[in-house]
Amino acid sequence: MSIKQNLQNIKSTLPQHVTLVAVSKTKPVSDLLEAYQAGQRVFGENKIQEMTEKHEQMPKDVKWHMIGHVQRNKVKYMASFVSLIHGVENFKTLKEINKQANKHDRVIDCLLQIKIASEDSKFGMTASDASKILQATEFSELKNINVVGVMGMATFTDNQEQIKSEFFKLKHVFNQLKTIHPEMNIISMGMSGDYQLAIDCGSTMIRVGSSIFGERNYN
Ligand SMILES: *Cc1c(COP(=O)(O)O)cnc(C)c1O
Repeated sequence: MSIKQNLQNIKSTLPQHVTLVAVSKTKPVSDLLEAYQAGQRVFGENKIQEMTEKHEQMPKDVKWHMIGHVQRNKVKYMASFVSLIHGVENFKTLKEINKQANKHDRVIDCLLQIKIASEDSKFGMTASDASKILQATEFSELKNINVVGVMGMATFTDNQEQIKSEFFKLKHVFNQLKTIHPEMNIISMGMSGDYQLAIDCGSTMIRVGSSIFGERNYN
């Protein structure tokens, strides 16, 4: 099926309150343009350099989401245009985003990445780390970032019950953190294989790549 048809199929099943991030990592700009022409405006990339190159080539009303691990020394390359950073894993990174956003006179929206998976390979902070950050005086002094929610990735497994319990965990952490920081309104969880389950568990933002653009080829 075409990218346009894939997008239409997915969008027709989404509740109104759920935002679809089209994850275009490794895909050529021609694929992104096809999605753009079908009305898609929110794109997710997991490498800052790749996102920056695509940003230069794509129409300027695209909203760029950084969904991957954020290397602090590369924040400067995306600070002028990035719309939402999903994978903030510690306070140092928030500080760097704040510093670079300030240079561009912007306020950058961020999500705190919470570790919900049992795998060691998955990034993220604990609920208690997140709550400490949100209550710190130093955090309240960062005027060029907005923490607007949380992001999480479930374990790579076929066990639906495990995925479901990890998604519920993120929803629960979100509810807790929202009592400290009421500006939070985004729960970024769910990918091609599990976004329906994620929505059932409270997701408001799904990150879907292969179901839109086809399988990725890393060679
Ligand atoms: C690649 C990626 C996705 C999309 O994965 P698909 O299975 O292709 O939908 C979602 N989130 C993150 C963080 C990713 O790196």
